[in-house]
Amino acid sequence: MHHQIVIVGGGSGGISAASSLLKRNKSLDIAIIEPSDVHYYQPGWTMVGGGIFHAQQTHRPMHSVMPSRVKHIKGAVATFQPDDNTVTLEDGTKISYTYMIVSPGLKLNWAGIEGLEATLGKNGVTSNYRFDLAPYTWKLVQGMKGGKAIFTQPPMPIKCAGAPQKAMYLSCSEWEKNGTLNNTDVEFCNAGPGLFGVADYVPPLMEYVKRYNAKLTMNSKLIKVDGDAKIATFEGTDADGNRTTVDKPFDMLHVVPPQTGLDFIVNSPLANEAGWVDVNQHSLQHNTYKNIFGLGDGCSTANAKTAAAARKQAPIVAANLLRVMMGQEPVYHYDGYGSCPLTVENGKVILAEFGYGGKIIPSFPWDSTKPRKLAWILKAGILPWMYWNAMLKGREWLVAPKPAPKA
Ligand code: FAD
Repeated sequence: MHHQIVIVGGGSGGISAASSLLKRNKSLDIAIIEPSDVHYYQPGWTMVGGGIFHAQQTHRPMHSVMPSRVKHIKGAVATFQPDDNTVTLEDGTKISYTYMIVSPGLKLNWAGIEGLEATLGKNGVTSNYRFDLAPYTWKLVQGMKGGKAIFTQPPMPIKCAGAPQKAMYLSCSEWEKNGTLNNTDVEFCNAGPGLFGVADYVPPLMEYVKRYNAKLTMNSKLIKVDGDAKIATFEGTDADGNRTTVDKPFDMLHVVPPQTGLDFIVNSPLANEAGWVDVNQHSLQHNTYKNIFGLGDGCSTANAKTAAAARKQAPIVAANLLRVMMGQEPVYHYDGYGSCPLTVENGKVILAEFGYGGKIIPSFPWDSTKPRKLAWILKAGILPWMYWNAMLKGREWLVAPKPAPKA
């Protein structure tokens, strides 16, 4: 089996890249290798956990989002042979390509926390990072009559770095509304040292932390959950640099799992030392194999791993790949744009938009550090519509690829 362009992964990045390619040249022979029958709109899961969306609004059949000119190869890539321009699927099928785009997402390492998998979805333990569990978050939020609620954040990088705290804010917003917040002891346990990676957004987020009377515990990593006993164990470091562990009882525990490159990427010649697809951070071309591009969460680029980033990356990958196909250098330039609509309360969002080095890149002429109703309308209504009808269809609104700015 041979295709001119093989795309690995039919998620946000893979489908958008295929559509952006076909928008430029309808005659391209493109195959997408994707094992799942379902395509998820993962940014909606925060809203499901907050009782704003139904889970059904966040997925569609895979065939309905596949561009009609693309061949869907239903299967999972097991290994890459980039020197031969082939990939091998888990069932042993070999597929060759002339060019390849890799967008398989990342691995949610639930097993990295002892005892977690056995108790997810019961005993008050939940996560918005799984389609089937986000409704349980909302069920727990509604059922809380006071007690201890813990929200955890693993070490970076993770997809949508704001999502762990978004779960906390939306839960607190509901408890504030229904009068249980005063009886609820809320704690955010973060394996990292700071509330958010871009300093400008920290002060307005701290206002909400204060408003909800939430306790912030930094450098505290969840390592174990005993669901039956309702005890979460955290690892920290004391002032002398010694490792310490502490047990915390909970009534509700929202967990975000540690995240890494997928095993078949980590063990491949495409990966860098950290296990991510090793691409140039501006052109998104593979650093070794020039006929390969990468985008999305699985890439080595130091942007916020978001669908918003994939939306910006897809047209750049398409335009640069077409140049490479014509024997030219890739000139289109990714600035690291990513966006994180921080749902600080039901009805208001701080629309964090930033690029490499934490440079704020607002799409609108407003102060993006302010919580806004308009940004909520964007998150709750406009962005999902844009995802299904623009991004996945190759409509590159506000994300037309541009060459690098002149020095
Ligand atoms: P994915 O969309 O995950 O797609 C990867 C695809 O690759 C999948 O379809 C998978 O089946 C496939 N695949 C896996 N293994 C193989 C294999 N071996 N062979 C072939 N295919 C394979 N982003 C935002 O912009 N804003 C937000 O507010 C936001 N909130 C989020 C909240 C939560 C709770 C979560 C979980 C994510 C959120 N995101 C948000 C992040 C966003 O969903 C991801 O960044 C985006 O989906 C990444 O796209 P991707 O194509 O890299 O990966």
